[in-house]
Amino acid sequence: MVSSKRAAPLPRAEYALLGRSGTEPAALPGTDPRASVLLEPTAFPTPYGSTPELEFLTLRADSGELRRLIFVRPAPSLAPSMEPELRGREHRSLALFWALREAGVVRIVAESGAASITQHFHPRDLVIPHDFIDFTPQRSGWLSPGRSVSMREPFCPDIREVLWQRSRRFAAEKATRAFNRAIHASVEGPRAETAAEVAALARLGGDVISQGVTPDVYLAREIGACFGTVEMVLNYAEGVRPEWDFELLRAIVREGAEELGKVALDALAALPAERTCLCAARPSTPEGSTAEGLLSA
Ligand SMILES: [Zn+2]
Repeated sequence: MVSSKRAAPLPRAEYALLGRSGTEPAALPGTDPRASVLLEPTAFPTPYGSTPELEFLTLRADSGELRRLIFVRPAPSLAPSMEPELRGREHRSLALFWALREAGVVRIVAESGAASITQHFHPRDLVIPHDFIDFTPQRSGWLSPGRSVSMREPFCPDIREVLWQRSRRFAAEKATRAFNRAIHASVEGPRAETAAEVAALARLGGDVISQGVTPDVYLAREIGACFGTVEMVLNYAEGVRPEWDFELLRAIVREGAEELGKVALDALAALPAERTCLCAARPSTPEGSTAEGLLSA
């Protein structure tokens, strides 16, 4: 842990790519011909401890402009890190989003793997969630103390649209499917869910489940950034037919990782330069007021 309240200045970047388990074996984005590495993966100190390693790159957008991009793998393995003296993932998330705000990031695209908790989504399908249910401990309010952010339209419509266009192309090329609406359910882990828990989440309206997406989606809102994610279905959750198969899951990760990373990277390159969404303007309570202010806004 670092005791100083402020870290050394971070290089500037407006875009960020969060690589979750889906692209773990892939070497993207550094190997993409549109990308140039400015700074090799480096951990930065923050008031919440060290960030995960951040790689700084430029990415040539479809429009020709050069975009400054931070690439980070917040969770380098399927299980969250568990440092003994603190809940590792909690502090790593706060450190990461503190650093993203310091760097000036306003648009964040993520990719990850997920499990289907219904029979409608199959392994290798791409899912772009439009809403979420979160059963993990809440980490909101740390980065902007005293404020409560609105969760209206939590996933940026601009980012969802470019992810959807790219995912449709992926689905056509790979003979799989893409969905532009789904409800993501977040669970804490690292243990997996029981069949009864999965059935309960499905009855509540969940479509896919993983240990990612939150807190990222609401910490992004807390720092005023847009957030969108594409998830590749890796397996069926417990109790959903057929039984999940770790070898099949590993094969999908191995084969699909680079392609899923490309979908996310292509979306970052395709995003129009101007934000047309309302993510940064969503009502939130001013410092020192209560959530009632938000509800009546
Ligand atoms: Zn937005």
